[in-house]
Amino acid sequence: MKIVFTRKIPTELVEPLKEKYDIFMWDRENEPMPHERLLQEMKDADAVFTNVADRIDKQLIEQSSSLKVISTMAVGYDNIDVEAATARGIAVGHTPGVLTEATADLTFTLLVATSRRVVEGMDLIRRNEWQSWGPFLLTGQSLYKATIGIIGMGRIGQGVARRAKGFEMNILYHNRSRKPEAEAELGAVYCSLEELLQQADYVVLLAPSTPETKNMISHEQFEMMKETAVFINTSRGTNVDEEALYQALKEEKIFAAGLDVFETEPISNDHPLLTLNNVIALPHIGSANVETRMKMATLAIENIEKGLAGERLTHIVNAEIYGKGK
Ligand code: NAP
Repeated sequence: MKIVFTRKIPTELVEPLKEKYDIFMWDRENEPMPHERLLQEMKDADAVFTNVADRIDKQLIEQSSSLKVISTMAVGYDNIDVEAATARGIAVGHTPGVLTEATADLTFTLLVATSRRVVEGMDLIRRNEWQSWGPFLLTGQSLYKATIGIIGMGRIGQGVARRAKGFEMNILYHNRSRKPEAEAELGAVYCSLEELLQQADYVVLLAPSTPETKNMISHEQFEMMKETAVFINTSRGTNVDEEALYQALKEEKIFAAGLDVFETEPISNDHPLLTLNNVIALPHIGSANVETRMKMATLAIENIEKGLAGERLTHIVNAEIYGKGK
């Protein structure tokens, strides 16, 4: 059986698989496998180890006649046509949980760095423009006891709320369903999206990318936010109308934004948002610490091995395939 790895991952994880499987691994770590090459390699593949940068679309799924498992090294799976996979009984696996704390750390890093203008400070020194201590030089917004509004109070959202508790922040959240455990343990208060946008000093977006969440934060939502609000997006770029975000930041309708994700990735350095001082942009590194990435890769491999052995994946996206006699 053949497994296609669309990126180079550490040898120690792949080597043991070679005894049992025929392995194709793209030999670049930070460069995507060209789609044409992926299509070609997938023709006789039984499983694919993929990531957020690959497009696993209907065409690819339908032409891969022996494909049994699509395993992504991520919790989000908006790059995969799950419906097409399900129609063919192909299991789609992902890696929730193991990346929660790392992504919550990065989200909180953006909160702190954006509110206190950390990157602007570094740039000022690099340009040799730091003349003296100034009473209002690079003044930002307070975090301690401020109000945080979390949209998408799932695993990572709750991780961010736990960190916010340490700063004695007032925690508001908006979610599809109420989260009684977060309310009890973290003192989080459920509210409508409108209330959250109006009251939060920090608006943090952590809902998945779905048809329902596409552009859920646009002109109308930025209009509702405070002029001092800091907006953080570590979910998916498609959840935010980037043109509306650019205007809100440029016209100082909000104070600043911290972004780890973009509508189209990678963004280039002429992206309009990068012309603004009140933006911190990162290259989709939410879960990027060594320990977490190793756990994600290990779990993604575990999903593949279980799927190829005819067992239920540890973390399955389309469990309904098992109802079809698989
Ligand atoms: P999760 O546990 O599934 O949490 C997602 C939450 O969003 C759930 O509580 C869900 O509510 C809620 N939600 C879904 N649709 C909503 C809507 N329309 N309005 C409001 N809330 C909605 O997922 P997670 O592990 O926390 O991950 C969240 C997302 O973070 C992922 O989908 C991924 O896109 C992103 N992520 C990014 C990075 C990065 O590197 N930047 C890393 C990891 C994850 P219900 O519980 O009611 O369904």
